[in-house]
Amino acid sequence: MATTLTSLRFDNRFARLHPSLYQVVDPTPLPAPYLVAFNSDAAALLDLDPAAALEPEAAGYLSGAIRLPGAEPIAMLYAGHQFGIWVPQLGDGRAILLGQVRNARSETWDLHLKGGGQTQFSRMGDGRAVLRSTIREYLGSEAMHGLGIPTTRALAIVGSDALVYRETPETAATLIRLAPTHVRFGSFQVLASRGLEDRARELADYLIGEHLPELVGAPDRYRAWLEVIVERTADLVAQWTAVGFAHGVLNTDNMSVLGLTLDYGPFAFMDEYDPRLVCNHSDHDGRYAFDQQPAVGLWNLARFAEALLPLVTLEEANLALERYPARFNESYGRLVRAKMGLATERPEDGGLVEEMYSIMAANRADHTRWFRALGGVTATTEAPPAELLASVHDLERLAGWTTRYAARIRDEGRPEPARAAEMRAINPKFVLRNHLAQQAIDRALERDYSEIERLRRLLADPFAEHPEFERYADPAPPWAKDLVISCSS
Ligand code: AMP
Ligand code: MG
Repeated sequence: MATTLTSLRFDNRFARLHPSLYQVVDPTPLPAPYLVAFNSDAAALLDLDPAAALEPEAAGYLSGAIRLPGAEPIAMLYAGHQFGIWVPQLGDGRAILLGQVRNARSETWDLHLKGGGQTQFSRMGDGRAVLRSTIREYLGSEAMHGLGIPTTRALAIVGSDALVYRETPETAATLIRLAPTHVRFGSFQVLASRGLEDRARELADYLIGEHLPELVGAPDRYRAWLEVIVERTADLVAQWTAVGFAHGVLNTDNMSVLGLTLDYGPFAFMDEYDPRLVCNHSDHDGRYAFDQQPAVGLWNLARFAEALLPLVTLEEANLALERYPARFNESYGRLVRAKMGLATERPEDGGLVEEMYSIMAANRADHTRWFRALGGVTATTEAPPAELLASVHDLERLAGWTTRYAARIRDEGRPEPARAAEMRAINPKFVLRNHLAQQAIDRALERDYSEIERLRRLLADPFAEHPEFERYADPAPPWAKDLVISCSS
């Protein structure tokens, strides 16, 4: 693996599809670009040597200012429901698919540049992204990957001193993110709304060919493909729910057809457990509150299934959608049992889990620390461990629950060190708390980018103890409550 930026192997399959699916457009260079972050783990997906970051023109290539040999930049067309309201045309307004790289394992990765300037889909926007939001997406997506949850990846951030205007002037930056495809639910919605059935068929066949080759040519492939997307979306939302992640902007244009976490805006890995958490300051009605995500996932899938109606029958669409609730419950149930170190499923578990979350919510217990501390409860536990005691004021209720939980563990009779180790492998010690991201941003604004790399490396391995990084596992400081995260990015 010693590919340089100029020898990446491009194979731009999306650009071979019908031109009505995209606009051919070059990025608009940012003045005097400089490299802010380069992710050697993501580079490996492209067979790209980490030394690429040191190439003289790296910032130019990675910001789209200089075209990579073989790249064919395009902006993708899509539409979507934003906060429930149909918007007939969105599209890559500030993102540009530079091209697709094929690696030695025959995987194809989209190189998607965010903040690369205006396209025909920019509407009123400037086509730019600010450094703050690129750092949040870079760290958020890599943290998600570290947790084992499907997501786009992040390759590099390039900064510039050029100013862009949000609530205040901020410096611009670009992010290259990677995914096997950036096609969204909205990519099909736009085709359906325009009556472009042939284009929808072409796009679906492309995706099936790339990602589900076993379905190629099957007469019922669109139905089978829809079912896969329903299941992957249910699994994804279950994983978010189990880890305490709120996406913040679950519009249909931010829903990946591969079930990846896509478009990191005002997301949050929650600190205190709050099922009503609304992490997007602009979401006044709480449409995308944490506990609404499972229902929103299904609503979005219903809009997607509607858009496929020329390709699948109404009955097939409904049958596919009907799989969602059971699939979500099964995935989520399995994850929560694993988080609690339970190997079997019992009828009484529902009550045990409900009471646990109710105690966590009533006491605003720290979500990540709570689950990490659960490993301290064993078959012989008589009183709650110190970490749980410290996170709860209703001690009597906690004691009652701990007794039930310990009895349940005793009943199962699993060997203890193994159980605790398995719990540590599913309950992360570290998540990208808002204040940690903010600290990396604040330092980057002072031109110190070291905290971005430190956090990225830590969050790539969030289940290990990392005693030298203990403070990164601390609960959020009081000032974190004042951080306002909006859609503006
Ligand atoms: P998002 O909320 O980031 O998922 O973006 C929703 C839509 O707005 C997408 O079509 C984006 O491309 C577009 N958009 C967001 N910010 C900008 C911007 N600064 N300039 C142009 N288009 C933008
Ligand atoms: Mg988006």
